[in-house]
Amino acid sequence: MKYRNLGKTGLDVSEIGLGTEYLNRQPRETVVSVVRKAVESGVNYFDLVFNFPEYLDNFGAAFKGLRDKVILTHHIGSAEKNGRYRKTRKPKECEEIFLETLSRLDIDYIDVANLHFVKKEKEYNEVIAKGVLDLAVRLKEEGKARFVGISTHDVSVATKAAKSGKIDVIMIQINMANNAMLGRNEMLAACAKEGVGLVAMKPFAGGKLLQRNKTVTIAKYQTAGISLKKKISPSITPVQCISYVLSQVGVSTVVPGVKNVEELDATLTYLNATDEEKDFSALITDFKEYITGECVYCNHCLPCPSNIDIGQTIRLLDTAQRGVTKTIQAEYNTLPAKASDCIECGSCTERCPFEVDVILKMKQAVTMFD
Ligand code: SF4
Ligand code: SF4
Repeated sequence: MKYRNLGKTGLDVSEIGLGTEYLNRQPRETVVSVVRKAVESGVNYFDLVFNFPEYLDNFGAAFKGLRDKVILTHHIGSAEKNGRYRKTRKPKECEEIFLETLSRLDIDYIDVANLHFVKKEKEYNEVIAKGVLDLAVRLKEEGKARFVGISTHDVSVATKAAKSGKIDVIMIQINMANNAMLGRNEMLAACAKEGVGLVAMKPFAGGKLLQRNKTVTIAKYQTAGISLKKKISPSITPVQCISYVLSQVGVSTVVPGVKNVEELDATLTYLNATDEEKDFSALITDFKEYITGECVYCNHCLPCPSNIDIGQTIRLLDTAQRGVTKTIQAEYNTLPAKASDCIECGSCTERCPFEVDVILKMKQAVTMFD
């Protein structure tokens, strides 16, 4: 397992985290087995989305003795009534649920207090106006939460939150289906510039990307913006989907959901996958009409005679569009070959499936970093 910075929080999160939605209503022994196996495999980021008593008690049992090994998210605004999920924007109720969560999990603090599922900008404004963000900030000041996050299915909400200076972590869908969505890369770059940690959910677009050989409709909430009708490749794998997500600018961790140990094992095959197995470039061409000219950092254009890591160089260039931070410059400095080493041979542009003007990108990178 590799670990990445969760933005400026100082937390190191496992590249693969875990969504827990599908573990709701599973037997306790299943929840305990999944969590224990995940932690043994190096997973340390867990997103706890519900507040059903049995769900929390199961996770309380699963995390027993593991508090110092896990990073936990609680969703402020996720509520229940008569065993059914609902949302609330009442700060008092949110605080009661938060404290109940701490008690049922038998812990003293949550790592990320996440403003739950903020649908549109109107709702973002509502969350602020009603004092829910203030509640999260107060919980942080009181030491009951270490950081404030937000989960959303909307790119404009995520971009606004990233620029607000009050949000440490953003959770949003990142998957191949939204690769070329308008505003998505700007949002990723804003997170990278502001040092906001990015938790990528729905790497398989709610399972739609794994429906091999079928024509599926991928809904807006699965792409974070656009609805698509697509024939899914007969050869797509979970490893390729995860590899795609982890190659995107600013992503700290990806949180696939599993409902048993077998599904967890299938997800964790990524850890031992070869570079060939991780290569997603042939799949992303299914979405080519949306992405021509945009680099997806797949490195299909290698080898470069000057030994330039082209995908990584362009990824850093894209990340720095809103300003070169010390972290981005430091990352660039560690590259073994620099953009200025480009001899303009053009072999990369012939191999790139996405018609990226690599030579121009290298010149832009020289201006940006050298
Ligand atoms: S230039 Fe093309 S082939 Fe190379 S990393 Fe970018 S998208 Fe992939
Ligand atoms: S054009 Fe530049 S970046 Fe592309 S393969 Fe040739 S030397 Fe490498």
